[in-house]
Amino acid sequence: MKTIGLLGGMSWESTVTYYQILNETVKRQLGGLHSAKVLLYSVDFAEIEACQSAGEWDRSAQILTEAAQSLERAGADLLVICTNTMHKVAPQIQERVHIPLVHIAEATADALRQRGISKVALLGTRYTMTQAFYKDKLTAAGIDVLVPDEADIRFVDHVIYDELCLGVISPSSKQGYLAVIDKLAARGAQGVILGCTEIGLLIKQADTALPVFDTTEIHAVKAAMLALQD
Ligand code: GLU
Repeated sequence: MKTIGLLGGMSWESTVTYYQILNETVKRQLGGLHSAKVLLYSVDFAEIEACQSAGEWDRSAQILTEAAQSLERAGADLLVICTNTMHKVAPQIQERVHIPLVHIAEATADALRQRGISKVALLGTRYTMTQAFYKDKLTAAGIDVLVPDEADIRFVDHVIYDELCLGVISPSSKQGYLAVIDKLAARGAQGVILGCTEIGLLIKQADTALPVFDTTEIHAVKAAMLALQD
């Protein structure tokens, strides 16, 4: 089994879910007492968020690259960045490590294609919803991406940073998210990407008729399956 290097803490609320899914997947595949081989470098999210809001992406890339290099030195065979947003700097990180990075948007595009989805709604941070780095991976796979209108982008982003990343799960925010999802379904979305690793703490498949693609689940399962490959 390969060792999975997690770049986590963005936020730690969702890194917990990654750790759980990696172990559940390995247990399901191998049975018995088997569990995933995992190294975790958990950053201080306040430092990363400060870089984001100041637009200092190169600085955040530097912090995450040094963390990724530590994971590589410690023996990680695969690199998993446990956030959609920070995949903005994934190319810079990949350039400076020798182990493969399991890209969250590529894993999600594969999952969408397997389900025959050609038009999808994307929920995530304002960076993920409005910038090209993430949507480009989906459009390159032939998938059209719908994002909420400006007011809904602000609401979805606010719930991520001011609630979910702080461990706050609010019933009214859940209703708000479901209303946003309904509007995107009315615009033709055949599925919805939970394109922020904390959204799965708020929204489950049982909450909506629209097929849900939880990036945390997709990413962690893919990493575990890669770790089990020869
Ligand atoms: N975990 C979130 C994501 O998947 C947001 C936190 C961050 O900005 O990294 O995008």
